[in-house]
Amino acid sequence: MRSHYCGNLRDEHIDHEVTLCGWVDRRRDHGGVIFLDLRDREGIVQVVFDPDTEEHFQRADRVRGEYVVKVTGRVRARSGNTVNPAMPTGTIEVLGKQLEILNAAATPPFPLDEHNTVSEEVRLRYRFLDLRRSEIQERLKLRARITSLLRRYLDEQGFFDIETPILTRATPEGARDYLVPSRTHPGKFFALPQSPQLFKQLLMVAGMDRYYQIARCFRDEDLRADRQPEFTQIDIEASFISADDMMAITEGMIRELFKGVLGIDLGEFPRMPYSEAMRRFGSDKPDLRIPLELVDVADLMQQVEFKVFAGPAHDPKGRVAALKVPGGGKLTRSQIDEYTKFVGIYGARGLAWIKINEIAKGIEGLQSPIIKFMPEAVVLQLMERLAVQDGDIIFFGADRAQVVNEALGALRVRIGHDLEMIERPWAPLWVVEFPMFEEDGEGRLSACHHPFTAPLCTPAELAADPAAALSNAYDMVLNGTELGGGSIRIHQREMQETVFRVLGIDEAEQQEKFGFLLDALKYGAPPHGGLAFGLDRLVMLMTGAKSIRDVIAFPKTQTAACLMTDAPGTIGAAQLRELNIRLRQNEA
Ligand code: ASP
Repeated sequence: MRSHYCGNLRDEHIDHEVTLCGWVDRRRDHGGVIFLDLRDREGIVQVVFDPDTEEHFQRADRVRGEYVVKVTGRVRARSGNTVNPAMPTGTIEVLGKQLEILNAAATPPFPLDEHNTVSEEVRLRYRFLDLRRSEIQERLKLRARITSLLRRYLDEQGFFDIETPILTRATPEGARDYLVPSRTHPGKFFALPQSPQLFKQLLMVAGMDRYYQIARCFRDEDLRADRQPEFTQIDIEASFISADDMMAITEGMIRELFKGVLGIDLGEFPRMPYSEAMRRFGSDKPDLRIPLELVDVADLMQQVEFKVFAGPAHDPKGRVAALKVPGGGKLTRSQIDEYTKFVGIYGARGLAWIKINEIAKGIEGLQSPIIKFMPEAVVLQLMERLAVQDGDIIFFGADRAQVVNEALGALRVRIGHDLEMIERPWAPLWVVEFPMFEEDGEGRLSACHHPFTAPLCTPAELAADPAAALSNAYDMVLNGTELGGGSIRIHQREMQETVFRVLGIDEAEQQEKFGFLLDALKYGAPPHGGLAFGLDRLVMLMTGAKSIRDVIAFPKTQTAACLMTDAPGTIGAAQLRELNIRLRQNEA
């Protein structure tokens, strides 16, 4: 139908006859001449109709915003003062000769260029209109380029793109399952995959050697954070590889991606053990763009009477840490109050601080609500350990280690942004040597990554002291965001059974839930491992979008609903009967 995209016309097309199709972005009547801004995926071009072409001029006069039209005309240079340097097509315009209205349009519920004043709810309800905006189109275009480049890289490295089932059994990744009732097996349910984890491992057992998939995953979580119930992973698995091999392949992929799409060289990714990341940054996904670190001071605080510090300092599960902020002495009382509230979100019961006004004056040169509770010698030792300078502030966290890590870890990032301390635009790293398990409050263990991750010890050692075991897992982190995570897998049955036992999964349940996996491990499973990247988050980082919803064509709301299709929806009695389901709310 068309000869060119509107947004692609340039000076080189001057004097060409073109046919364009698109939407009327704007129509202006300038005393006998009609200007139409015509828009398509590639951008906007100005079309002019003058009364010489009477029939078509009349039609141009009738069109309204968002009408779909086809225009034929001649490209011409704009005269000097009408050139618009803000538009890529701003040096030319099309003198329209013919106009065909392909479809009329009702007035949209919100003007596309004034979407900012419209609630997200309305935009999601009319997502097909919201998606016409160039900002979103650019992001989806970049997303397509990203997946295309990733596919090319993995294809070249010998990976096969293989699909795995959507209707399946539970695949534990630590979230709730989405369930689908089976009509043919009354009373039974499929689960939607939280990830293709077990299938990709079985593909390795099957000898496929290298697999990838741009895979949809489903996790029924409370969407407090910026999450989506269905999201996309770049899922990767390979056989006969070490953790180093897998990290090299995927680091190469991400570096090539940033080079190819953004022209950025990320350099070589440093590696950091989990324990170091927690100690220095209070986080297993540290944002290394921010030059602030946590420093342990429990040994000093064991000597003070101040219970808030002394308690956690003596508790083996406690932590007392300090966060020095150079130049933070200028923070006002109300800013500090604001940070105190902020760390409260993570369970911290307060935020102690010391301002260093004049270090030369010793303890007199400090300002703090807490130093009166501490012996002078301890305070001076503290100042020395933290190498403070005039104008600094020190914040303290003293609580269970987890609370201190989360609170000070988050505060570090918040202050880094507030005081504009970001040192470089991109800071990637690998975090390695994770613990195998984490403990909940009641002493129960759960897998840190997932139960198929290989421990860095023997089954006997694992059974003897599971809490101390490390795993052969690795996370790729960029700017404080986990881009992807993976591990070398367990490929021997005995080890897999040991892990299940540690997790409190008895033999009957192992057979019931994972019999097929245990079986597969019996019949010649090769050593293998892999990794999965969150595609949505990756695109979000690369496009600078603020929310994950801005890089997904049809996202769901915070309450996991689709406002456009009104899903999830109710279903009729007949369908329920067919599925052998009776709703409790109907029984009353
Ligand atoms: N299945 C894991 C996940 O979804 C990734 C992996 O281990 O490859 O996080």
